[in-house]
Amino acid sequence: MAPAPVEEIPRCYASPVNVSVSDPSTPDLPRLRPVSGRASRPRGIYDLSLPELETRVRDLGFPAYRGRQLWSWAYRQFVTDFSEMSNIPSALRDALATETPVSLLEPSRTVATDDGETIKTLYRTADDQVLETVLMLYPNRATVCVSCQVGCAVGCAFCATGLMGLARNLGAGEMVAQVVGAAREARQRGRELTNIVMMGMGEPLQNYAETMKLVSIVHDPAGLNIGARRITLSTSGIVPKIDALADEPLQIKLAVSLHAPDDELRSRLVPVNRRYPIATLMAAVDRYIAKTGRRVSFEYALMRGINDSEKTAYDLATLLRGRLCHVNIIPLNPVDMLPYERPDPEGIERFANAVRTAGIPTTVRYSRGLDIDAACGQLRAKELSFSAARAPK
Ligand code: SAH
Ligand code: SF4
Repeated sequence: MAPAPVEEIPRCYASPVNVSVSDPSTPDLPRLRPVSGRASRPRGIYDLSLPELETRVRDLGFPAYRGRQLWSWAYRQFVTDFSEMSNIPSALRDALATETPVSLLEPSRTVATDDGETIKTLYRTADDQVLETVLMLYPNRATVCVSCQVGCAVGCAFCATGLMGLARNLGAGEMVAQVVGAAREARQRGRELTNIVMMGMGEPLQNYAETMKLVSIVHDPAGLNIGARRITLSTSGIVPKIDALADEPLQIKLAVSLHAPDDELRSRLVPVNRRYPIATLMAAVDRYIAKTGRRVSFEYALMRGINDSEKTAYDLATLLRGRLCHVNIIPLNPVDMLPYERPDPEGIERFANAVRTAGIPTTVRYSRGLDIDAACGQLRAKELSFSAARAPK
């Protein structure tokens, strides 16, 4: 039987910085000041599910159908200003505007590349955090790459976001705002948003509840109506949450950032591997596949001289053989300061072929938007150093 076609996962991510594998302690980005507590996280309309919005509206003394009307303004018209919601009584608009703003994010910069097919937006949150979102337009789909945290606590050696440390989790509404913003951008170009990848800044499985809430809101058929199979969640391998994900009713896709077939190398590249080593991770992936019947995608950031030898390809294939999976090779995204290099095209093909020949379906994905720092973390880092340079001493 011919193998099922592998749907490629678009990539937007990458964030190399000045650090070596053996010494991941020399980031040249400022580390973030952690912001703790759910209470400090701004909340708005995008944090509410449709039933919650209806309840809110009823609590304010209005009929529940007003909730549906608001929902339609927010998710069908992409309106962010209550004053534009012409069929909503002004008393309700005013009541909501003070307590439950529509969007919690202020776009501070938008840049486009790839002939306008990749659009990156830098947002500021209400508490002045900075984050990034990328919209990628393809002939047959439009995909948004969403950030789920400001920074990340995992600290992968080759990732700028990780080296910033974690400032705070984003709320569901702040993630939904990124999706709606991308949907609006797509519509302005005559397109509809079709796919979501959780591959921006942050580790979605370390912000599990809010990420699941985002999924349920964007999936709502009365709103954005994005099918669960069009939502991909990427993780560095937070094992208990992979198990939790397997129990979720919605059929979202899972991508696991593997990057190395052995514990010694993976622990250096992806430090959370010390907590959940490869055997533990693979056991969780197997449980996930057994429960859901869904194919898992393994991401593999290819770095010259680090994880790109033929032996490593063979070890990778041996590790993955027999699993319902495929490998997504991401040639490392280069930046000036990076000691890691992307292998040359022949080296990338050689590695991909070796894994393929050993029986594992493999695709190579180049990141979009290299010339606009579409690498998550890069534009943000530039914006921050720019702001710091302007700040009064
Ligand atoms: N935290 C999650 C999701 C966001 S990162 C995770 O790690 O899976 C999305 C993907 O981009 C991950 O596979 C990550 O390893 C990869 N990535 C990070 N920095 C990269 C870089 N410099 N070049 C290529 N891929 C990179
Ligand atoms: Fe970057 Fe993902 Fe690693 Fe976090 S888990 S440091 S976002 S690659």
